[in-house]
Amino acid sequence: MIAGYYAIDYQVHSFRSHDGQASIHDQCVRAIEIGLDEIGFSEHKDFDPEDPVVAYFDYDAYMTEMEQARTTFGDALKIRAGVEVDYQRWFEDKIANYLDSHPFDFVIGSVHYVDKQMIMTPAYNATRNANEAYQDYFQAVRDSVESGLIDILGHLEYANRRGIGAHGSYIALQYQDALNALFQSMIAHEVPLEINTAGLHHVGLTYPTQETIDLYVAQGGRLLSIGSDGHHPDKLGHRYQDAADMAQASGLTHLCTWHNRQRHDVPLKPE
Ligand SMILES: [Zn+2]
Repeated sequence: MIAGYYAIDYQVHSFRSHDGQASIHDQCVRAIEIGLDEIGFSEHKDFDPEDPVVAYFDYDAYMTEMEQARTTFGDALKIRAGVEVDYQRWFEDKIANYLDSHPFDFVIGSVHYVDKQMIMTPAYNATRNANEAYQDYFQAVRDSVESGLIDILGHLEYANRRGIGAHGSYIALQYQDALNALFQSMIAHEVPLEINTAGLHHVGLTYPTQETIDLYVAQGGRLLSIGSDGHHPDKLGHRYQDAADMAQASGLTHLCTWHNRQRHDVPLKPE
């Protein structure tokens, strides 16, 4: 528990991700130290054959380490083995094939690229004005939800990481139609919204912003995940209380937890 909230971190990386900076063991030690009830590892899995780290993720080694961590820490901490798939529409069938033969507790779908271009980079923005740059991003996110392949939508509005620098300050209400259409898809597919606190140290805003969380709830969205995107133990559970406060302020009352890709909702604030 953290500040009276059931405490989860469902966006966590280790050395099993190409950019991880900690072992699974060390992330678990830290999780217990800060009071997490559950830690959900979400190692990067990439599919673009031209990506230099496409072959980095080792499923069998990951699952072996998971079992070791559960043996060591299982009494004090729930440890879930998830994956963060980079979603691009053109390799949707590769994702589907992979997930068919590699069981996880949960699958986060994240959009980092649209048609092989990293979102909001100069190359991406060269052919798009601000509106097009965000609209194309939101469409890709909606495609990821409608693929039916993912359990959790990763870091919505991650576009702001570079988008604010490239296009100026972000006002969610300008994209209300695209966001509402996305939320209708998420609700239909029962895909939770993640509040990702990494944005707080990138651009001073959570992914997504409070305004966007309010829009989600106004559309009828109730499914919530929270993650730090921590690649290092120092970032694990980053500003969890703030994220939980934001969720509560928007009227969200439960957190989604996962085991064998089955969702189990728990009260954000247990009695
Ligand atoms: Zn990501």
